[in-house]
Amino acid sequence: MLRQRGIKVLPYIISAVMVGTVTALCLLLNGHIDPANFAVIYIMAVVLSAVWWGMRPSIFTSILGVLAFDFFFVHPLFTFAVSDLSYLYIFAGYLAVGIVVSLVASGAREQARHAQEREQRSLVLYRLSREFAASDSIVEVAAAIKKNTGELLECSTAIFTGRLNELFLTDADADFPVDEHERAVATWVLVNGSAAGALTRTLAASKGLYVPLKTVQGTIGVIGLYKWDNGVYDMEMIEVLSGQSSVALQRAILAENARLEDRAKENNRLQAVLLNSISHDLRTPLVSITGALSTLKQDFDSMDASVRSEMLETAHEESLHLNRLVGNLLDITRVESGTLKINIKPCDLRDVIGSSLRVLKDRLENRKTVVEIEDGIFEVPMDFALMMRVFVNLIDNAVKYSAPESIIKISAEISGENVLIKVVDNGFGIPAQDLERVFDKFYRAEKPRQVSGTGLGLSICRGIVEAHHGKIWAANNPSGGASICMEIPAYIKEEKHGK
Ligand code: ATP
Ligand code: MG
Repeated sequence: MLRQRGIKVLPYIISAVMVGTVTALCLLLNGHIDPANFAVIYIMAVVLSAVWWGMRPSIFTSILGVLAFDFFFVHPLFTFAVSDLSYLYIFAGYLAVGIVVSLVASGAREQARHAQEREQRSLVLYRLSREFAASDSIVEVAAAIKKNTGELLECSTAIFTGRLNELFLTDADADFPVDEHERAVATWVLVNGSAAGALTRTLAASKGLYVPLKTVQGTIGVIGLYKWDNGVYDMEMIEVLSGQSSVALQRAILAENARLEDRAKENNRLQAVLLNSISHDLRTPLVSITGALSTLKQDFDSMDASVRSEMLETAHEESLHLNRLVGNLLDITRVESGTLKINIKPCDLRDVIGSSLRVLKDRLENRKTVVEIEDGIFEVPMDFALMMRVFVNLIDNAVKYSAPESIIKISAEISGENVLIKVVDNGFGIPAQDLERVFDKFYRAEKPRQVSGTGLGLSICRGIVEAHHGKIWAANNPSGGASICMEIPAYIKEEKHGK
C-alpha cells in the first residue's frame, strides 16, 4: 500500500532524551565499572528505539550514542577524538548491532502492521458482502459502497449509477466535490468504462479519481474517490471493491426492475379486476332494476297486486345493493387517495351498531343478531358515519358467508386503553392462509366463490379503522365461522394526555 508519511520528529527527540539519560547513568557509574561496558547500556536505547520506531530513529540513536560515549568516556575526554583505536571496533560493532536489531524489529513491526491491515480489510470486505446481501435496493447498495469504500480507502466517496451516458448521483459524502467538471469526468468513465481523473493519465486535472463499476452488460455505475490531502490510493483494494460493488449493484438493479415489472403487472391486474367486477356488479342490479321497472310500466294494469309489489321489492332491494356498491367504490377511492375526512367525536356504540343493523334490515330478514356491549362502555370516540360503513360491511359479510339460519353476534369489551369490538358469525369461516389477505383490495377467498362481491369491503374497513388509530384483523372461531375483530382507542388522544 502506498501511503504518504511525513517525517515525525517525536521519535528522534525521545531517542535523544534516552541517550542523554543513558549518558547520565554512565556518568554516575563511571569509576565503578570499566567504560567499555557502557556500550551495552547504550545498546539498550538503540534496541528500544528500533522496536518502537524502526530503522531511522534507531540508527540516529546509535550515532548519537557513539558520539556521547566518545565525548564523555573515551580519552581524550570531552572531545570527539579517539586515542585508543580499539574503541573504533567497539563503535563499529555497536553501530552494526543497532542496524541489525532495528532491521529485525522494523521487519517484525511491518509484518504486524500488514497483518493488522489485512485483518482490517478482510473485516471490512466481509462486512461489505454482508451489507450487500442484506440490501436489495440500489439506494441501499450505493450507501453500503459509499460507507465501506470511504472507510477502507480513507477518502470521501460518491456513487453514481447510470446507463449509456445518463449519470445519476445516487449517494455522496457531504465533502465530495460534485461539480459540473467532476460530473463530466464521471460521465466519461461511465461511457468509456475505464478509470479517469486524479492520478490517472485521463482527465488528470480533476479533483477525484473515478472508477467504473463494470459488468458483462457494460458499465452500470462509477465510484468517485477524493482525498483532501491528495494522497495516493491502494489500487489493488480499489479493484477488489469495485468488483464486489458491481456485482451487488447489478443484483439490486435487476431486483428493482423485477419489482417495477411486478408492480406494473399488479396494477394492470387490479385495473382488470376492478373493471370486470364493477361492470359485472353494477350491471347485475341495474339489469334487475330496469327489467322490473319496464315490466311494471308495460303491464302495470294487467298485473296482480302481489306480483307488482314483488317487482317493486326487487327493484328496491337491487337499488340498495347498487347504492352500497357505489358507496364502497367512493370510500375506497377516498381511503386510497388519503382524502378520507374523519370527524372523531364520542359516539354511542349501541347507536352506531343499531343504525347499521337498520340499514341492513332487508338483508338480515329473519336472522338472529345478538349485540353484547360490556357495561361501562357508553361513548367511544369515532366517526359515526364511517364506523357505520365498517359495521355495515362486516355484518353484510357475516350474512353473505353464513347459512340463513345462523346467528350473528356483535360484541364490545374494554381491552386496556382500547375497545375491542367483534363481529362473529358461525358460517363458513375464512381459509387460514387468507386471514390477512382478505383485507387486500379486491381479494376474495377461493371459497365460497358463488357469493357475489368485489373484495372491497374489508379493505375499506381497514382504511377506516386505521384512520381511527385502531387495528382490525380476522380470526376463525374454534366452533366454526369467522370473527372480525377491531381495537379502537377508547379515549380521544388529547384527553388521554390530559389525564
Ligand atoms: P364486497 O364486500 O366488496 O362486496 P366481499 O365481501 O367479497 O365483497 P370483503 O368484504 O373485502 O369482500 O371480503 C373479502 C373476502 O373475505 C370475501 O370474499 C370472503 O372470502 C372473505 N370473508 C369476509 N368476511 C367473511 C366472513 N365473515 N366469513 C367468511 N369469509 C369472509
Ligand atoms: Mg364484503
